[in-house]
Amino acid sequence: MPSDFEIKKQICEIGKRIYDKGFIAANDGNISVQISPNEYLCTPTGVSKGFMTPDMICKVDANGAVLQAKGGYRPSSEIKMHLRVYKERPDVKSVVHAHPPYATSYAIVGTPLTEPIMPEAIIILGCVPIAEYGTPSTDEIPNAVAKYLQHYDAVLLENHGALTYAGDLLSAYHKMESLEFYAKLLFISSQIGKPQQLDKQKVTRLYELRKEMGLPGKHPADICARVNSAGGCSCHSLNGTAAAAPYTTSDSQPYTPETVEAVVRKVLASYKQ
Ligand SMILES: [Zn+2]
Repeated sequence: MPSDFEIKKQICEIGKRIYDKGFIAANDGNISVQISPNEYLCTPTGVSKGFMTPDMICKVDANGAVLQAKGGYRPSSEIKMHLRVYKERPDVKSVVHAHPPYATSYAIVGTPLTEPIMPEAIIILGCVPIAEYGTPSTDEIPNAVAKYLQHYDAVLLENHGALTYAGDLLSAYHKMESLEFYAKLLFISSQIGKPQQLDKQKVTRLYELRKEMGLPGKHPADICARVNSAGGCSCHSLNGTAAAAPYTTSDSQPYTPETVEAVVRKVLASYKQ
């Protein structure tokens, strides 16, 4: 386990990445990492996440009580949303919240990201729902997000932004990057033509491969099928057999871009057969 200081440095590094990539403006966004059963390091409020130093990072407990905050820095008021994720998802050790412009635009027009247009997004994210609007810093956002936590690893926040979470900080950040890239591709492709969706069979195969690889986290493959049978969701629908078994993954294989690439290569090769 890296030291608190090492994790604080990582939080600063990821803050710089989300700022440099334009996923946040001014002092927006927040990042947290669980370091023990009742201790969480989190970014301070009122500070650009692109220019943080380790001494600015705060520590809170599972109820949000401040355990450490130096130099007048205070934890983000959005820490409630992060703590709710940890409470509902014991497999999650890091949460990232940002306002990436393409993904957030979909959250503003009220369109969930549910079009299966590329293998990587299907494997890593599946569908990405929109949690109902809530006033920042109240319990409204945690309550809205809670509904989706058992089946999704990325959630859009209505008229607000995006939330991603994973077993470690880099994976939570990668999910945010993948989410924004997927939203950007969907937007650009819809400007130059009609995005062609992968058919049900190909999507089902991608979900099966994800399962075979034992990639960690939850994934909406199962719920998409159930919602779809109720007529509410047109995304990634699976046939009855694929949906029958509860969708679970083990933590035996950590998520890395390499493992996803390997899965995608396999899938692309299978298309050629
Ligand atoms: Zn926000």
